[in-house]
Amino acid sequence: MNTLSDRLNRLSPSATLAMSQKSSELKAQGIDIINMSVGEPDFNTPDHIKAAAIKAVEENWSRYSPVPGYPELKNAIVAKLKNENGLDYKPSQILCSNGAKQSVCNTIMAIINAGDEVIIPAPYWVSYPQMVLLAEGTPVFIDAPIEQDFKITPEQLEAAITPKTRALILCSPSNPTGSVYSKAELEALKNVLLRHERVIVIADEIYEHINYVGAHASMASFDDIKERVVVINGVSKAYAMTGWRIGFIAAPEWVVKGCNKLQGQYTSGPCSVSQKAAEAAFAGEQQCVEDMRQAFERRKNLIVRLAKEIPGLEVNNPQGAFYLFPKCSSFFGKSAEGRTINNSTDLAMYLLEVGHVATVGGDAFGSPECFRMSYATSDENIVEAMKRIKEALGKLK
Ligand code: PMP
Ligand code: GLU
Repeated sequence: MNTLSDRLNRLSPSATLAMSQKSSELKAQGIDIINMSVGEPDFNTPDHIKAAAIKAVEENWSRYSPVPGYPELKNAIVAKLKNENGLDYKPSQILCSNGAKQSVCNTIMAIINAGDEVIIPAPYWVSYPQMVLLAEGTPVFIDAPIEQDFKITPEQLEAAITPKTRALILCSPSNPTGSVYSKAELEALKNVLLRHERVIVIADEIYEHINYVGAHASMASFDDIKERVVVINGVSKAYAMTGWRIGFIAAPEWVVKGCNKLQGQYTSGPCSVSQKAAEAAFAGEQQCVEDMRQAFERRKNLIVRLAKEIPGLEVNNPQGAFYLFPKCSSFFGKSAEGRTINNSTDLAMYLLEVGHVATVGGDAFGSPECFRMSYATSDENIVEAMKRIKEALGKLK
């Protein structure tokens, strides 16, 4: 009687949100946990954005918005894409949703048929394969281990494409690895894709501004493939607005129309007040973005230095986002405090319960040899967390 649909039974819960929930539960019991599980900026939303939202409430922006978002917000996004990315889009090519998460899911639902293959480089953000499964598509993974800085090569991409391939999901800067594809690397992948006309690129650029190597490169900047690129972005990460829930796609009109139809039946336009806040974020001064980026870069340098001092961890040098994804497989098979570590989920549980630091095992990201730490937290927390992790890992024999 009380059985969920097969569709839901096939779905795994979000490991990032689950670990964050577990960490909150332990905190509520009075245990001093440092939460490096969920990926969200620890900053407050900048004041001018909050002021725009308060004004929107007072001015009664309280009714349904158009399904793809208010024209003013879409215009602000068109201007952002032009000014920051050099990309030309019309307002009819923009659709705003309830966070970039919905933007990715809408796109997948709009273009994937049962049995279509979707190429996902691994490590990947936990939700991509699950969204593909929801759409009855088949995720096809390309392994990009730490030895190749967690990035796929053109040869790997070519080898993974079949007549059933319908999409590639490329996240740069990457969650969970922090790797960033340079313009030349994107171009090499693009040249492979040009040979396969059916493949759409879902370019998740939500970490665009949290970049330590300079200018952001977008797959949509190549004119010969732009008609097959769906850019995903939003305000969550750049403007510390995870709770406001505004993301968008910039895409060919046929994709936008499809997502509009889906969203119109499913969730309608996103929150009216949040849209006014997002408009202020895109149209307002951008110094706040740079200030937060600098703080993330300082923390990145700190956590990389401390992680490199921990025997048994292998660490890359992330070029963006706010995650560190060390390889930890040297601890597999070791034991301490009555527990044996068999995989990265065991390791994350051990670090939570023994070290009181919440991280996420790499299994959920398709990389069981690694685990993820979000360093979107204070310098003091980073120092203390790394001390605890070092001690806990040092006990494993
Ligand atoms: N893509 C990636 C790679 C992410 O890490 C996130 C953050 N959860 C999202 C999309 C979704 O962002 P939002 O909070 O805007 O839904
Ligand atoms: N992107 C964040 C993360 O990966 C938020 C959690 C989520 O949406 O899964 O931790």
